[in-house]
Amino acid sequence: MPKDMLLEIKDLEISLLVESHMVNIIDNVSFDLKFGEVIAIVGESGCGKTVTSQAIARLLPRELKILSGKILFYSKIDERVLDVCKLDPKGKTIHYIRGDQIGMIFQEPMSSFSPVYTIGNQICEVIRLHQKVSKKKARNISIELLDTVGIPNPVAAVDQYPHEFSGGMRQRAMIARAISCNPSLLIADEPTTALDVTIQAQILVLLQELQKEFGMAIIFITHDLGVVAQISHRVFIMYMGKIVEEGSVHDIFHNPKHPYTENLIHAIPKLGNLRERRRLVPIRGNVPSIFDELHGCAFHPRCKFFMPDKCDVHFPKCKHLTSNHSVWCYLYE
Ligand code: SF4
Repeated sequence: MPKDMLLEIKDLEISLLVESHMVNIIDNVSFDLKFGEVIAIVGESGCGKTVTSQAIARLLPRELKILSGKILFYSKIDERVLDVCKLDPKGKTIHYIRGDQIGMIFQEPMSSFSPVYTIGNQICEVIRLHQKVSKKKARNISIELLDTVGIPNPVAAVDQYPHEFSGGMRQRAMIARAISCNPSLLIADEPTTALDVTIQAQILVLLQELQKEFGMAIIFITHDLGVVAQISHRVFIMYMGKIVEEGSVHDIFHNPKHPYTENLIHAIPKLGNLRERRRLVPIRGNVPSIFDELHGCAFHPRCKFFMPDKCDVHFPKCKHLTSNHSVWCYLYE
């Protein structure tokens, strides 16, 4: 793995076990992430974004199995590259990495915090699990973290329970817990979805500021392409467990190639001159079920460029358009 690389995922395949049948959820997914880089994984619900992130932290539900592939992660423990897929999901190494070197922010902060412990207690728990510090010191660090993420009166807030926080404050507190051990990788899984637009914007700015201050890499997972431009360097578009396009933010927004990416961009509401106002164009059809046996490109039932006997036979090969812009579509073969 190159020296500047923090994470490299190679040909990852994850299956769901249903009544002794295996259904592929993640199919041949490969991507990498450099130290301090921010990437976004974008796609509709059910395309495999969250499963990919759960696999990195070995938090997959029991019925999901990693079939093949590698998740190479540069570990600070002994400064070597670990294949996370080979680690025991209940073993010491992954317990040490998770929370310490990989921080996670989840979509719904209310269900991520225990309602019966104070916010401070739950941040201190992570700190004391990974750092040899006294209870008092951990409490002081928690207060500092709450202050860093913009919680008003952190000295009082540290002793409050999650239900006493608003949605935005809970999300800030979860960010404080996720960065409490100064991780090299932060996985933010739909961190703004449950929030209203004003708080959403504040959380995005906060993540940007923290990324600059602490220099951590971020994997930002979202179904909303609109929030990606502000925060990420590179974007990966996923559909039905496969990456279908990857490129810089500029490539994806100004020169999208895959019909699915184009459809996602047309579905973003735009503000502006009333005379230029246009109808939102929804993506026709629905995301197919994982149990539908679709051959070839899984987007073909919804694609206006569908080529019979081609698109529905084999999945297209990767076409490298530039050094960092690639697409998987027969239109570019
Ligand atoms: Fe459409 Fe075919 Fe390209 Fe799939 S491969 S996006 S069906 S043109």
